[in-house]
Amino acid sequence: MVVYASPGHPDSLVKFQSRYQHYIGGEWVAPVKGQYFENPTPITGKVFCEVARGTAEDIDAALDAAHAAAPAWGRTSPAERAVILNNIADRMEQNLEVLAVAETWDNGKAVRETLNADIPLAIDHFRYFAGAIRAQEGGLSQINEDMVAYHFHEPLGVVGQIIPWNFPILMATWKLAPALAAGNAVVLKPAEQTPASILVLAGLIGDLLPPGVLNIVNGFGAEAGAPLAKSPRIRKIAFTGETTTGRLIMQYASENIIPVTLELGGKSPNIFFEDVMAKDDAYFDKAKEGFTMFALNQGEVCTCPSRGLLQASIADDFLDAVVERTERITRGNPLDTNTMIGAQASNDQFEKIKSYLDIGRQEGAQVLTGGEPDDRGGEFSGGFYIKPTIFRGDNSMRIFQEEIFGPVVSVTTFTDFDDAIRIANDTLYGLGAGVWSRDGNTAYRAGRAIQAGRVWVNNYHAYPAHAAFGGYKSSGIGRENHLMMLDHYQQTKNLLVSYKETAD
Ligand code: NAD
Repeated sequence: MVVYASPGHPDSLVKFQSRYQHYIGGEWVAPVKGQYFENPTPITGKVFCEVARGTAEDIDAALDAAHAAAPAWGRTSPAERAVILNNIADRMEQNLEVLAVAETWDNGKAVRETLNADIPLAIDHFRYFAGAIRAQEGGLSQINEDMVAYHFHEPLGVVGQIIPWNFPILMATWKLAPALAAGNAVVLKPAEQTPASILVLAGLIGDLLPPGVLNIVNGFGAEAGAPLAKSPRIRKIAFTGETTTGRLIMQYASENIIPVTLELGGKSPNIFFEDVMAKDDAYFDKAKEGFTMFALNQGEVCTCPSRGLLQASIADDFLDAVVERTERITRGNPLDTNTMIGAQASNDQFEKIKSYLDIGRQEGAQVLTGGEPDDRGGEFSGGFYIKPTIFRGDNSMRIFQEEIFGPVVSVTTFTDFDDAIRIANDTLYGLGAGVWSRDGNTAYRAGRAIQAGRVWVNNYHAYPAHAAFGGYKSSGIGRENHLMMLDHYQQTKNLLVSYKETAD
């Protein structure tokens, strides 16, 4: 067990600056309008730094830098870019604990997750795309004896990227690694709730990239995000965030006829068929762990298994077991590696979750455990903690249909296979789903029938770089991760060449 010192304490691994600027053209640049906003840690609720409050003028400066850098960067060879991406991964690995503590302090999530998941996954992402870009090949079609169609990959040029607050470094990496590997220059806007850890990362890796290839403009959605997404100077906008914001991003992009990729909200079903149940057995233990994944990252995961679907014949016994397991989730100092659940990322999010705890009760759902804030005492009393909560109710309730984005699962029952699929698909969203059964046929058929981009079968919340991730329905457009992501950051150039020497 390790308890990391809080940033601000002399023993802390992380020395945050008291004031952060934008990162533009390889330098720290003050905001044109001279304004800053305060950034609190959700762990104590106290402000620990202030951050440049970007506007359209700062976005323009970042786009100037990106345009200046893009042509030369786009001409580098895949091998050269792969070396740089691997160097970034190495630098991150050398600073794993620093990045993990910075991420925990900025976002509130438990350090056991940032140490073991967020940062290692981000490192692997850079390595994956370093390999992927070298392995990528163009295409050739032999049209006839005299004519050949060559297909080349070309970078798009300058791209915009806007990310949310739930996995700041990982979401930044999901976007940066493929974009940089493909030879694009980037202007990235982090979420205003969690700007600091990405700026720590920029400070660590900035010198590994040519100036202007990576630019970070901080600030709020309307003030800094919208001017970026609306700019006629970007060739693509990649966005992760709420479905309502995603609609706006598509509207902005339509003005400039540029491609969008959207990773949006979810209300993911986690389905447990009756054959999971056993008294004492490793598979059943695994299934229980899969159910309690609703509390991972404080439930602030777009694929949070926030709807539990239990076959009616096992529901009562299964719930007894998972309530007991949920109550054993260790709650404490997020910088203690024993702690399993940290703080919600912001006061707004904390208030939103509390309002849904009230809504659930008003709708008549039964609270099986939790259902209230979690005062952790001492310096943590000002932080934003919620107890892992299990509701039992009906899929028509708001707590089953609306994204809560907290450690809250709403459980209902189904009678048979068809009923399970009907309930699973009765949602606007289609991002993730879980299927648990010892029977391969049931699991396969359920996995194929659920309208979601990612269905975990007998596992949940794994995010390997080489598995495609993205949404059906209102959960988004396009995919992230996997080789196919490179297609979202490249143009296809076709040369159609005639080798015939005569006109006939
Ligand atoms: P949000 O849409 O409010 O904000 C996301 C980002 O968009 C922030 O950087 C914000 O400043 C910016 N933004 C807001 N309004 C904007 C505008 N008009 N123009 C341009 N930019 C704007 O979302 P959030 O509350 O920060 O994030 C939580 C949401 O993200 C949840 O709905 C969650 O499901 C979703 N999410 C999805 C995935 C996925 O991969 N599908 C991953 C993580 C989070």
